[in-house]
Amino acid sequence: MSERWDVLIIGAGNAGICAAITAAEAGCSVLVLEAAPRDMRGGNTRHTRNLRAMHDEPTDVLTDSYSFEEYFEDLMRVTKGVTNETLASITLRQSDDLTQWLVARGVRFQPALSGTLNLGRTNAFFLGGGRAMLNALCRHAESLGVTIHYDTPVAALTIDDGFCHGVELSGSDTDIVPQIITAKKIITTAGGFEADLDWLAEGWGDAAKNFLVRGTPYNKGVVLRSLLDQGAKMVGELDQCHAVAIDARAPKYDGGIASRIDGVPFGLVLNKHAERFYDEGEDFWPKRYAIWGRLVATQPDQIAYAILDADGVKRFMPSVFTPITNDTIEGLAKQIDLAPQATRNSVEAFNAACPKGPIDQSILDGKATNGLSPEKTNWSAPVIKPPFYGFPLRPGITFTYMGVEVNENAQILMQNGTPTANLYAAGEIMAGNILGQGYLAGIGMTIGGVFGRIAGQAAARSLNKVGLVE
Ligand SMILES: Cc1cc2nc3c(=O)[nH]c(=O)nc-3n(C[C@H](O)[C@H](O)[C@H](O)COP(=O)(O)OP(=O)(O)OC[C@H]3O[C@@H](n4cnc5c(N)ncnc54)[C@H](O)[C@@H]3O)c2cc1C
Repeated sequence: MSERWDVLIIGAGNAGICAAITAAEAGCSVLVLEAAPRDMRGGNTRHTRNLRAMHDEPTDVLTDSYSFEEYFEDLMRVTKGVTNETLASITLRQSDDLTQWLVARGVRFQPALSGTLNLGRTNAFFLGGGRAMLNALCRHAESLGVTIHYDTPVAALTIDDGFCHGVELSGSDTDIVPQIITAKKIITTAGGFEADLDWLAEGWGDAAKNFLVRGTPYNKGVVLRSLLDQGAKMVGELDQCHAVAIDARAPKYDGGIASRIDGVPFGLVLNKHAERFYDEGEDFWPKRYAIWGRLVATQPDQIAYAILDADGVKRFMPSVFTPITNDTIEGLAKQIDLAPQATRNSVEAFNAACPKGPIDQSILDGKATNGLSPEKTNWSAPVIKPPFYGFPLRPGITFTYMGVEVNENAQILMQNGTPTANLYAAGEIMAGNILGQGYLAGIGMTIGGVFGRIAGQAAARSLNKVGLVE
């Protein structure tokens, strides 16, 4: 590792490997440093299923069309306009050829999805999920001569007046490798800080200790902290993130998508005082699931319970955990540690407020509760048919948005707004430029893929390496 590399990349997830491939194709020597061991490689990327791409006509993996304008409108709606419109436009426009680019480098996609998720038009699904996708990209990168060192966490960057001299290593391998690695260009793709609960607590207070981290334990924001401490310009708010309600029995880290609880719209949700606190039927689940992490995070002790009956439990895809079951509401309440009488009162009040007749989950059916606070506005069916089911819910953090500000070449900006001389960022570490708040399913991987390629290209171009770069 002591040679002077053209391009050094920190973090071997989607963004890092897309950057590595692009720089290597242009003729750069590329070293990737990855904190995780090889068998745990891929950061949050290995948990993913899809990416969102614009297209003006059907492709081999996406149906119909999804125009730039529609994508942009969707993004503006979820972020409520808190986005850098220039960088957002670049992301959306350059998503156009992303699936073909990945396929040409060994990634395989499923045929367009049909079914209730309704994502076949907008989201392309990786065959074998994010792990298979990442494995294919790593294989391709290595075939181009990219060197990847695992078990090699970067502890800090040495930045002087916007120029990065090198990176300092930490961890078990430091005695056999040089402590400082130098490179002409450095691309930071080391994810957000979602796995550092102390840092999360700076935005969330004590509530953060009860968060479960859905993805990798390695995204602790060490590289982000080092950049910010040395004058890189911050973007985004400390407490903005993607967080969903997941089964409270999920592991502290790396539970992935299988621990998500999708049953909220088909029952009622109580906090630890056995009180309802939000409209469970506000909108279709794909549009609403991402607010429930935040909602549970603001409840006492960051715990809540979804309660369903024998009919409700059949209406959604089960999670990996067996639900807690009992033939009576009081019995269920005891099992999940809620006060039995208070739970019965809340369920009875809910049942009494439900309209008559069946619900239709394929539409926003307007079957709203009557006279209940908070109201449930769709799919209000009484919870009356035993056995009853309980799912304990915790906030599951997916990834954080606060990061470093970049320009359209993925160059990191300093606090005075000038671009750094040789530092770039892509992926979660700069996602807050585009995601000020809210989320659009599949855009995380799009941001990483698009800005990974931009960073790799910009680094190569500034070294006068042109290779295959178009
Ligand atoms: C359960 C789950 C499901 C998801 N599903 C989707 C989905 O279907 N579609 C979608 O678009 N997004 C999804 N996301 C979000 C998506 O995972 C991220 O947006 C994307 O993977 C980010 O890519 P990245 O390369 O920036 O980060 P990562 O893939 O997390 O890679 C960062 C890498 O940096 C390494 N690293 C961290 N610190 C250091 C250090 N100090 N030194 C060296 N290396 C370091 C990490 O080990 C990691 O390998 C999901 C996330 C989770 C958790």
